[in-house]
Amino acid sequence: MTCYDEYYDEYRCCEFCGKTGTSRVPLHRHHVFGGSNRKISDRLGMVVDLCHECHEGKDGVHRNRAKDLELKQRFQQEYEDEGHSREEFRLLFGKSWL
Ligand SMILES: [Zn+2]
Ligand SMILES: [Zn+2]
Repeated sequence: MTCYDEYYDEYRCCEFCGKTGTSRVPLHRHHVFGGSNRKISDRLGMVVDLCHECHEGKDGVHRNRAKDLELKQRFQQEYEDEGHSREEFRLLFGKSWL
């Protein structure tokens, strides 16, 4: 999804609902694999832009396990589609979500 975000002055929008950020309420950058995997998540570009609601709201990715899992599985799948094995993924992230 691409849409113009006035705060970052570039094309960014919420991964789930498509909302763009504003100078008052910028989008958040969410690490698909957080915690101890935050650094590797960063290094591999496994981050998404999310609006406040979809990030930390009551149905946001940090509270809704289904949404969290959906993102993790999508990014793991993409990683494997690039030619990496599941074992490789497991070594990097400590487990597999697929
Ligand atoms: Zn959103
Ligand atoms: Zn987050």
